[in-house]
Amino acid sequence: MSAQTPSTLLKLARQALLRDETLDMSALDKLPMELFPVLFKEALIGRHTTTVKAMVAAWPFPCLPVGALMKTADLETFKAVLAGVDTWLQKKFHPRRGKLQVLDLRKKHHEFWSIWAEAEDGDCSAKTPDEHQVVKVLPRYALRRRLKVVADLCLRFSLDEEQASLLQWAQQRMGSLQFCCMKMTIWALPLYAIKEVLNVFHPEHIEELELNVEWNVFTLAKFAPCLGQMRNLHKFFLAPIYRNTFHISNRTRDREETHVRKIISQLSKLNCLQHLCMYGINFIKDHMTQILRCLMTPLETLSVTHYQISQSDLNCFSWCQKLFQLKHLDMKGVILFDLDLIPLQVLLENVADTLQSLDLKGCRMKDSQLTVLIPVLSKCSQLANVSFYDNDFSMHNLRNLLQHTANWSKMNVEQYSAPLECYDELGYVSIERFVQLCAEQIDRLRSIRKPKNISFATHICPRCGERCVYGLGTRLCRCWR
Ligand SMILES: [Zn+2]
Repeated sequence: MSAQTPSTLLKLARQALLRDETLDMSALDKLPMELFPVLFKEALIGRHTTTVKAMVAAWPFPCLPVGALMKTADLETFKAVLAGVDTWLQKKFHPRRGKLQVLDLRKKHHEFWSIWAEAEDGDCSAKTPDEHQVVKVLPRYALRRRLKVVADLCLRFSLDEEQASLLQWAQQRMGSLQFCCMKMTIWALPLYAIKEVLNVFHPEHIEELELNVEWNVFTLAKFAPCLGQMRNLHKFFLAPIYRNTFHISNRTRDREETHVRKIISQLSKLNCLQHLCMYGINFIKDHMTQILRCLMTPLETLSVTHYQISQSDLNCFSWCQKLFQLKHLDMKGVILFDLDLIPLQVLLENVADTLQSLDLKGCRMKDSQLTVLIPVLSKCSQLANVSFYDNDFSMHNLRNLLQHTANWSKMNVEQYSAPLECYDELGYVSIERFVQLCAEQIDRLRSIRKPKNISFATHICPRCGERCVYGLGTRLCRCWR
């Protein structure tokens, strides 16, 4: 009979433990620490709820990143985890040195499990990770007394079963546990429901907020004080908010204006904001100066898309120092064709050493406007992504732009609108000309640098609603297939 290796013996021991549905706490308190991670993982995946509950209560490490294992877990297992925390709370004495400090419910990869999986996969002579190594992967906030429950929340239309049971459980334990949501995504949830969630998961812990609500300015103003409390917010995405565009009385308009100012003023409380993204937010028209004046920190990302910009909005791009370290500028769908682009030129001049992506898709720029930007675009040496789809440039000007891109050595994805010469008098695409002109452009560009992912696209076809694309992923609109 061959001798069984110690790793096989460990496996047999784990199986025996999982079979034992009467597993009690005293037995787990004596279980070697290094057996916990893999046994817990197996118990959770196998939905052994009794074992899961007992193991949470006896968890010997400071952090239990259970969310990373729960991508496919069911409600019963989730409830078993929470019940385990309840048992943990009731225990007066925690014999393990590194007692539980953080229950991490975020459903994303956590280094903890990789470290222990490596130890498990290796042979028995392989060193098991020491406590210091595991503690090192814990975030700063872990080292505190009250058990902290960390979650990312994506709230769509209403709370799902798991979220509802977490919220209900949390509401009853607010005094004895700390709750913290770092990333909150909200889709069309009523304001009262959001406030209920924020009552448990306090706004000051939120680092990323995505607000996809179809509110009007008045409802957003009611939410604004919560936004102002998000002192750790790094990224704020807002879309879309409606403003009255129909005929309304002056009084209503004044009230609306007061609310817009109140909303914008909250930005001055966000001391960590780095990424500001606003999609289709029409109330920011003529308020860009106020918005930029409220910023407390230099932005990495400014994304103001699909809104009607004014010249005064654009003008402040040239003087706002908080924009002068931008890495990403996205003005997709912002119509620029009747504006003076000098302020944009000045901004690009200031960010020439930092800007990595520039999206001017659908801006309807004209040749004369591109001419203003070409000299400064040629200096943006860090650019890796640009989009100029849906602008109105002639062949001559496009050629001029491309000839000035020798500095774009980091360029990865570059998108240009097809030259105006590709369209006939009625505005329909001539496919032969489109293919020929785009091929010529790419050939010419290859003589100055090596484009990786370049494409030219026509405007959306009025007949079929698709566009023709030439370059990587060449595709003709439906009319030509
Ligand atoms: Zn078509």
